[in-house]
Amino acid sequence: SDTRRKFIAGNWKMNCSRSEAIQLASAVVASSEEKESAQILICVPNIHLADIGKLAVNSHVLLGAQDAYWQDSGAFTGEISISMLADYQVKYLLVGHSERREMFANTDEIVAKKFAGALKHGIKPILCIGESLAQREQGVTFDVLKEQCQAVIDEVGIEAFADACIAYEPIWAIGTGRTATPEQAQEVHHSLRVWLAEKNAQIAKNLQILYGGSMNAANASELLAQPDIDGGLIGGASLKAEDFLKIYSVA
Ligand code: PEP
Repeated sequence: SDTRRKFIAGNWKMNCSRSEAIQLASAVVASSEEKESAQILICVPNIHLADIGKLAVNSHVLLGAQDAYWQDSGAFTGEISISMLADYQVKYLLVGHSERREMFANTDEIVAKKFAGALKHGIKPILCIGESLAQREQGVTFDVLKEQCQAVIDEVGIEAFADACIAYEPIWAIGTGRTATPEQAQEVHHSLRVWLAEKNAQIAKNLQILYGGSMNAANASELLAQPDIDGGLIGGASLKAEDFLKIYSVA
């Protein structure tokens, strides 16, 4: 996998009370060590950013958010802007998670604006892409993924991916316990990298492409051993420090 570091990213989704969040983040910080081969990130609910930022600020554990609005300020009741996140040591932002696309009407165009907004504020976007089961069965998986990527490339240009990651998350594998096989995931990651390399070989070579979808302590090492799988975006298994740290330990 060339010189790319592995990237182990937790997505807590809408979980954890304040005390649970502090406990979980503390355990992740205390029970892991910085290492050459891999980075570690937790994407926590926005309301816990201040607490967790304080305990992670001088550690190797990176802090991320799960979504934000793309405008900097204004009449957008209930939303949080990317500039606000930047005030809380947030280094990464998930954009286009399938749950945001499906339940909160995040179109490709909105996702592209969020990607651009993150970069503008020095936050690295993690662009989440993925096909549904129906799309996979129709044989249009790669068309869907290209379309999702192209919308962002049209907005920011391929060079902007020097400060970003992609997470390939087949929707049928998220929260279902039905992980893509290492071969299925590798095939997609490789095709994506080849397609991106036609636009910019250097960017494609350095880009971390994470896999997401029921990755856990038992299946992580096999997935992470694939040459084009550079890490994981981990939902359920990131809520138990022991499981999450086991994944980081094999990365
Ligand atoms: C996710 O939410 O990005 C995810 C991959 O969830 P899970 O690991 O629970 O499938």
